[in-house]
This record gives sequence, structure tokens and C-alpha cells, in this order.
Amino acid sequence: MPSVYIKTYGCQMNERDSEQVASQLVAKGYSLAPSEAMADVILLNTCSVRDAAEQKALNKMENIAAETRRSRPDVVLGFMGCMAQSRGRELIDRLPDVDLVIGTQKFHHAPDYLDDILAGRRKRIVDVAEEAGSQSTIRDHLLNGNGHKAVSAFVSIMQGCNQYCTFCIVPYTRGAERSRPIEDIVAECRELAARGVKEVTLLGQIVTSYGKREIGMKDGKSAFVQLLEAVHEIDGLERIRFTSPHPKGYGDDLVQAYSRLPKLVESAHIPVQSGSDRMLKAMHRGYTRKRFVSIIEKLREVNPRMGVTTDIIVGFPGEAEADFEETLSLAREAQFDNAFIFKYSPRRDTPAAILPDQLPQEIKEERNARLLQLVNEIGARKYRACVGQRVQILAEGPSRKNPARMMGRTRSNKIVVFDGSERHRGQIMDVNVTRAGSFTLYGDPAIINLD
Ligand code: SF4
Repeated sequence: MPSVYIKTYGCQMNERDSEQVASQLVAKGYSLAPSEAMADVILLNTCSVRDAAEQKALNKMENIAAETRRSRPDVVLGFMGCMAQSRGRELIDRLPDVDLVIGTQKFHHAPDYLDDILAGRRKRIVDVAEEAGSQSTIRDHLLNGNGHKAVSAFVSIMQGCNQYCTFCIVPYTRGAERSRPIEDIVAECRELAARGVKEVTLLGQIVTSYGKREIGMKDGKSAFVQLLEAVHEIDGLERIRFTSPHPKGYGDDLVQAYSRLPKLVESAHIPVQSGSDRMLKAMHRGYTRKRFVSIIEKLREVNPRMGVTTDIIVGFPGEAEADFEETLSLAREAQFDNAFIFKYSPRRDTPAAILPDQLPQEIKEERNARLLQLVNEIGARKYRACVGQRVQILAEGPSRKNPARMMGRTRSNKIVVFDGSERHRGQIMDVNVTRAGSFTLYGDPAIINLD
């Protein structure tokens, strides 16, 4: 059987989609090639969030095509995902060596399409159509991709987004919100638990909108909270996380779920994007700074150890110094454990790309540096405050930076590096924090909970 190499660009959704395609191909007998040089099929799963991300994938494919067509003309080349969706056939017109273009609702057809191309039944395939029910096709897992059993898995609960933030391409590449049934997600999580997974992260572009139309409210609880309750019932699962919620849909029922559901760990990544109401309006975010701050306050009332992180865009079109200072003051007020800062870059085919008052790069760089410094100072203080505490971690495997040591995550989603071994993988452990580095804690295992 042929071997396949999948290179993934972009977000966790893309990683999850690639895992789906890889696991379907492995089930069919394909092997996973360690590099593109050894593969019979090379697939690039693409990201459209910035023009630069698209360019990167296009350049990569150009280089692969130049290389393989000379030495291995039979290698099958394909694009998948967001850029495949937005550009479709144009990709083949531009790069005639490409055999396959699969959109964001068609990942599950990859094995059949590859069979057809490899058997010579079809020459080129472009499929970027919409497909009813496609949100339910991202459900298979590899779990031992690196030779070790995974202890944590991502579970896709929905696809698409209806929010249409003015800077974002997602509603165009991923389509309208479509949610999977609660029973399907629970069945998938139950199977993961049976295969040794201890933690699931429920995944979607806007998980707080999960099931809004398909399921609706019940006893004052949103469909998403109903889903959290159902997943919480699964024996063997120890931890539940989710990403990404939207402040607009972050209701009191969700805040309260943290106090009722002990497996729902005290960690919230809530993208705020700006501290200025004027900018939030221009971004079409659908909430105010006040509303965002009140969510954070409520979450910390429910659990003072709540780890809160966010995403922020600096240099959005029309952002005045006063708007940016509002963002700085929000960062001080919210005391984020960490924040991921993005310099605004115009995304083709989004409303913000043609707004007047696009800011010069120097201003974006300067604001990025000022905000980063503040976020780092606050983060360092918060991480230092953990020193001397005993925290519970889920040991995930060797530390990426120093594979001789192990790493795990606290419930509030902070990385802890400790001296350990493979026997710790998958253990929920107590660790005494002895030192704090840059967004990393170091600790000694205290009592190992072996059951
Ligand atoms: S809510 Fe998120 S995914 Fe949806 S349009 Fe806004 S930024 Fe994009």
C-alpha cells in the first residue's frame, strides 16, 4: 500500500482534520511516511487565516512539485482545507502538478479520491462543495502517532461560524455553524476513554454557539452546557477542556458549569481581540469590554485559580493610540495568565481588508512590543506566584525542550516540567512547584496517585 505524508498549517482544527484523514488512510492500509521525500502521496492541509499562510503553502507545493516531478513523477500531490476551499480549481490552474483539491467539508472523501487517482481511474479531482452532515465526519483518532498512547485528544464538536468578525475568513472557508449530535460526541469521547485518553478538548471555531439551532436551550442551559454535562458523565475521563468560546455566548450557565462539573478544569481561553469598544464594534465582535470583564470576574468568583488566557489583535484599521491604551488597560484589569498577540494583517476577501485607515507596520510593531511586554510581566508574576504551591497535573510525555524530563499541564493549563519517566505518562499527579520560567513551571512530584 502507498505511504502518505500530511503537512498541516494553521490551527488545532486543521491538526484535527489532518488526523482524521491520516487515520482513515491508515485504516485502509496506507502507512504514514516520516517525510515528504519518502511518501507516495503528499497532502498539504492549508490555512487561510492570513495571506502569508496561503503563500507559504503555495511555495511549499511549488518546491515539492519541482522536486518530485523530476525524480518521482507518480507521486500524488494534493491540497486540503481552508485554502483549498477558498481557491478551488484555481490551485490546479496555477500549479498543474497538483492532482487533488479537497475543501473543508470533504476531508472524509480523501481515501476514495486517492484510490481513484492512484488506480488511474481519475486524473484530477477538485471537490469543494458543501456537504450536509460533514460536521459529523471528523471523528476518528490515531492516538499513537508518535509511538506512544496519547493521553489527551481533541474532539471536533461543530464546524463553521456565523459571527462574521470583519477580520476573519473562517465563515467563508468553513461555512455556517453546524453541530454534531450530543450522542455522537459522547460516543466518541467514551471510545477515547476506553483507549486510555484522560483528557478531551472539545473543539470548534465558536463552541459557545454549539447546537444553538439543532438542540437549543433546556432547563436554562445552553446546548453547549448540556454537552459538557453529558461528557462529564463518562467514566475514565478525568478532564474536560474546550476551545474556542466567544464572549457573546459565555452565559452564566457556562460560568456555573465550572462549579458543578469537577472534570471541567479551571481554564478559560476567551479571545477578546481589543479593549476598546470602538474597535470591538468595528471588528463586529458583538460584546463590549464591560461584558468581557464581567465574564472574567464571574469565572474567578467561581474559582479563584481559574487560568485565563486570550487572543488580542493590535493595529486593526482605525485603531487610535487611545484605543490601544484601552487594550493595555484591559490587559492590566483582566490580569491574563497569557495572551496571544497578533499584528493585524489584511486578509483578502474580508471586510476589514478594505476599511480605511489601515495602520503602518511600524505602529503595529510598536504596539505589539508594548503589549507583549505588559503581558509578559503579568504572566511572569502569575507564574512566580505558583512557586511553593502544590498543583495537580496530567503527565503527557517528554518535555519538548528537554526530552530527558517529563511535562504535564495543571488544571489551569500551565505547563509543568518535572523529573519523571514513561511510567508517569497518563498519571494525574500532584507536583510541588519549585521554580517558574517563561510561561513554564518546574516541579517535583509529590504524592503519585496511582489509582
Ligand atoms: S467568532 Fe472566531 S471564527 Fe467566527 S468570525 Fe469571529 S474570529 Fe472568526
